[in-house]
Amino acid sequence: MRENTDTVKFIKDTAKKIGFDGCGIASPVVLERDVDYLIKWLSENKHGNIKYLEKNIEQKADIRKLSGNAKSVIALVQNYYPSKKQDENAVYKIAKYAYGNDYHAVMKTKAAEFILALQKKIKNAEFKIFVDSNTILEKAWAARCGLGWIGKNTLLLNKDIGSFMFICIILTDLVLDYDEMHEDNCGNCNACINACPVGAIEKPHQLNASKCIAYHTIESSSANVQDEPISTKGWIYGCDICQDACPWNNEIPFTKESAFKPNPDLLKMSKNDWEKLNEKTFEKLFKDSAIKRIGFEKMKKNIETAGS
Ligand code: SF4
Ligand code: SF4
Repeated sequence: MRENTDTVKFIKDTAKKIGFDGCGIASPVVLERDVDYLIKWLSENKHGNIKYLEKNIEQKADIRKLSGNAKSVIALVQNYYPSKKQDENAVYKIAKYAYGNDYHAVMKTKAAEFILALQKKIKNAEFKIFVDSNTILEKAWAARCGLGWIGKNTLLLNKDIGSFMFICIILTDLVLDYDEMHEDNCGNCNACINACPVGAIEKPHQLNASKCIAYHTIESSSANVQDEPISTKGWIYGCDICQDACPWNNEIPFTKESAFKPNPDLLKMSKNDWEKLNEKTFEKLFKDSAIKRIGFEKMKKNIETAGS
């Protein structure tokens, strides 16, 4: 049964009330073009050693394989742009998305709260939450749901909140009105491509992840990954250069989500503190952070590489 526009308004108002910065809805169509692109990208080995990206291609193409009853895809976005940042001359740098608490937990908790609020009013509806899931092309879905466009740096970009955002995708059996996609607003800009210090954005919308600093400082952390070392330009976890260079990220609002506010101890870390980091401090500093996932040894290695 098709829900009326009041239901859509209720869904979007609820997302806003819970604190999300955007909520959009799309039809669960087959993502033919996106998956063709993904298959070509994988065949050219642009994913380096991130082998898990080769999995779940069928689900990535057809989201209904994850929930047979899915009639609509709801995308939620959350701005994490912090009001306080590391000193711009900091020798060792961390991507802003990891300043606060682990987004997986925060987004899942907020999405669960959102669904509970919906279920109080919309009876018998099914919802399934995905955050950073390797079965879903999240950025493609958020763009389809009208929450922005995919920039030349391959990130979701929104005119109002830029690109510093997390995405959550929800599948539902409700038939809803769908949002329209945004046009591409990159125009003639190539700031991200020009700013990338390692040439990882080889062409517009063509990221070679195996060259990217974020890949080298986060993804290539597993023991069986052997990569050529690269210069990480002082970044010890992730890299924000192509986002900081983007004109759409000028004057964006700061996050309203307190869980993403920077850990003050992290901002206080001096060059010396990083170089003397021990396991106990690592555990304490990153106990609630996504950074703890890479482990102390990888962080020590990242610090050594960044400082060399
Ligand atoms: S995250 Fe850094 S290394 Fe990766 S593409 Fe952007 S600027 Fe280049
Ligand atoms: S820096 Fe320019 S080209 Fe790159 S994503 Fe932003 S607007 Fe697009």
